[in-house]
Amino acid sequence: MQRRKILLLGSGPANLALLTCLDERRSRTLDVLQVIERRESAVWHPGLEFEDSTLQVSLFKDLAFLRNPSSPFTFFSFLREKELLYQYIHTNNLYPSRKLFSDYLVWVSHKFHRQISFGKEVTGIRYCGDQLGTPRFVVVVRDTATGSVSETVTDDLVLGLGHEPHIPENLAVDTDRVVHSNRFLHCVDEGRLKRDARVAVVGGGQSAGEIVRYLLRRPDVAEITVIGRRHLFTQTDDNPFVNDLYTYPRSLEFAGLPDEGRRRFLCDIKNTNFSSVTQDVLRDIYGLVFEDRTWGRDRLRLCSYTEIVSVGKNADGLRLEIKASGHAPAICDFDLLVCATGFTNNRHLKLLRPLGLGAQDRDIPVNGSFEVELDFPARPRRGLTGPRLFLMNHSLRTRGPTEHTLAGLAERAGVVADALDAGYRSEQPHEQAAYLASSSIFHLEGAVK
Ligand SMILES: Cc1cc2nc3c(=O)[nH]c(=O)nc-3n(C[C@H](O)[C@H](O)[C@H](O)COP(=O)(O)OP(=O)(O)OC[C@H]3O[C@@H](n4cnc5c(N)ncnc54)[C@H](O)[C@@H]3O)c2cc1C
Repeated sequence: MQRRKILLLGSGPANLALLTCLDERRSRTLDVLQVIERRESAVWHPGLEFEDSTLQVSLFKDLAFLRNPSSPFTFFSFLREKELLYQYIHTNNLYPSRKLFSDYLVWVSHKFHRQISFGKEVTGIRYCGDQLGTPRFVVVVRDTATGSVSETVTDDLVLGLGHEPHIPENLAVDTDRVVHSNRFLHCVDEGRLKRDARVAVVGGGQSAGEIVRYLLRRPDVAEITVIGRRHLFTQTDDNPFVNDLYTYPRSLEFAGLPDEGRRRFLCDIKNTNFSSVTQDVLRDIYGLVFEDRTWGRDRLRLCSYTEIVSVGKNADGLRLEIKASGHAPAICDFDLLVCATGFTNNRHLKLLRPLGLGAQDRDIPVNGSFEVELDFPARPRRGLTGPRLFLMNHSLRTRGPTEHTLAGLAERAGVVADALDAGYRSEQPHEQAAYLASSSIFHLEGAVK
């Protein structure tokens, strides 16, 4: 059994931001934590990394700038170290490509190579007690390369696990011909987009738009049918007043609203981020369709207000029964079905169930420090706080829409770092020494069950 004072689960932007904040402060907490990440690197959404995909928030909303503009971990610091700063400034662009932003995240992750363990997947969390009965967490970790399993006992857990790609159950019939948008470019690399392909794309959000643009640019794609329950395609409202909503201070205001106010707000801002497509992508799509027409081609079909009734396999591919509102069902054949059907915020719920949390698919309430109130099986010893659990990017309904974006994570990291630092400072000196001794060995092997 390993021992670590603090474990951060996931090395996406949420936990990377936390690492940068602790490093800026030269916090000792950095010496007693470890990050567990199941992927092999911090590359950001590679399955949707189109050449011209750009960030949807300003580059100032990076991992550090809004918390500390002089941080060595800002996007500008990255550009300077890569000798790209002058040229980037001359592009006059506040919205870098997703590829460049992904390179930035990888750059940050390399700075924390001692803390981050890649290729390790968390498969379980439960309580345990030490000899005196003080509760702690046990985190079960699987090595993704070898399959070996180990356990680590920890006091503080920070979950930044991101969201799970969602494919509606009735569409998931054939893993070769049905793909989630998040894996789209992997599927292209694997040769699953055949010549003269007839492709159906389900969904009307940014991913659907970017995939349709990519497909229209490929002359070897024969047909593209976009299917959505609502009107296709709605433009993202990104006027400056809307961007004001996606800030950390506004997320605090949101957290103070009564339930009904939060619900109405989330409903009202749907076309500011979710289920809508940015203007540049819509213009590109329109231009490509126009160009097709000048060549006598008509490849794009938009099926708004349309439901997919069923998906079945046939000899050549997939047979979809679709039903447009007010029309009889129709049968259409496709070679590939791309589900741009979004993500579900449920990764943490599954892991936290053994702690008596997350039984329902809704937010687990967090306090102002993003900490969850826990019901321990035993009382902590006098003077000790007991284990603590923090959630980042898992609380849209209680912390507002900023929570699910990059927009507030620099400042959120500051708040969580305060709480972690305060916990560490409250430890007895001999306990701190024990953690520091154990943290010099960053491995999870051994104690395999
Ligand atoms: C294509 C795409 C583009 C986007 N563009 C923007 C944008 O421009 N602006 C914006 O604000 N937001 C954007 N988003 C939303 C964006 O994903 C988030 O803002 C950001 O990535 C959230 O960071 P995170 O760390 O919370 O989650 P993630 O980035 O999802 O990171 C979570 C990490 O946890 C790891 N993990 C999960 N489960 C386990 C486990 N059991 N064990 C170990 N590790 C685990 C994952 O591998 C992952 O590395 C985009 C999303 C997508 C899909």
